[in-house]
Amino acid sequence: MAAADAIAASGLTKFYGHLRAVDHVDLRVPAGGRFGLLGPNGAGKTTMIKLLTGLSEISEGDAVVAGYDVRTDPMHVKQNVGWVASEVILDDDLSAWENLWLQAKLQRLDRWTDRAESLLAYFELGDRRKDKVGTYSTGMRKKLEIALALLHAPQIIFMDEPTIGLDAGTRRTLWDLIRGVNAEFGITVLLTTHYIEEADILCDRVAVIDHGRIVATGSPSELKAKVRTDFIEIELAPPVPEDRLRAVPGVLEAKSAGPVWTLRVESAEVVLPRLLAALSGEGIRSIRVDKPSLETVFLDLTGKRLDAEGTGPVDYRKFYAQMRRARQ
Ligand code: ATP
Repeated sequence: MAAADAIAASGLTKFYGHLRAVDHVDLRVPAGGRFGLLGPNGAGKTTMIKLLTGLSEISEGDAVVAGYDVRTDPMHVKQNVGWVASEVILDDDLSAWENLWLQAKLQRLDRWTDRAESLLAYFELGDRRKDKVGTYSTGMRKKLEIALALLHAPQIIFMDEPTIGLDAGTRRTLWDLIRGVNAEFGITVLLTTHYIEEADILCDRVAVIDHGRIVATGSPSELKAKVRTDFIEIELAPPVPEDRLRAVPGVLEAKSAGPVWTLRVESAEVVLPRLLAALSGEGIRSIRVDKPSLETVFLDLTGKRLDAEGTGPVDYRKFYAQMRRARQ
């Protein structure tokens, strides 16, 4: 483990019976960064967090988190990390302040009120501090959950799908707040997500995870640079046989939806003039070039479209109501 690593894992593996949910993962998360684990449902992201926070027993391999060995010193790991679960942890019948008080009691914190005050201010919950959490919006709940996870001043915060089910505007607000947690509070952030955009915009490093394995790691721009394909979207007025498009040198794949063709090409700059020549410029209604995105990277590495597989919007109000009923 390098001195500047917040997390260093080697050969990390978790078996659930015969299922290898996490499969010999080597991971280094530099201290002070925002690291994203990007992968589809069931890829092993949550399990990885549970292993790294000492919540689930490691089957094979080692991990050092916040300077402590997770296998031999899980208590110190837990004291130095915060965890924002993807499921509900708040008590709806208590106010924000009472939830913070409860958290302080559970963690046996002596001096917590000043930090609680500043966290409520940071997350703009100060004026609602006395209101029952049951009356909060989904975004406010998530902010409070993050505040709870930060109360004991951890070095690292783990967030499992922090913006799942939030609308686009609230998601962006949360991204800003998470950036601030990292920059202003100086806390290393490790989050899981299956939103490509979230990984791209929010994280300075990303590990793409599929079937319990890390298939690529790098900054979003490094990952994009690995993909050597562009896309050309072309709308053609008269029908064109697929063979004619595929025959253009440099075209790797051609798919159509009505009159619109999407061509995967080696290089748009090289293929575009050839394409125009092959079609003699006839019947072209529009052309658009797409450079590689993190979505392309994911498609390239795993053969899957992530957002198509990801969880759709979650109705959190329904979810919380179900949780409340289950607890009664
Ligand atoms: P999601 O985005 O849906 O939360 P994930 O990437 O976090 O997915 P995990 O929850 O880590 O994935 O699950 C990885 C695999 O391990 C899945 O096949 C899952 O069914 C399995 N798994 C997770 N927890 C358990 C458990 N307690 N017992 C048995 N299998 C489990």
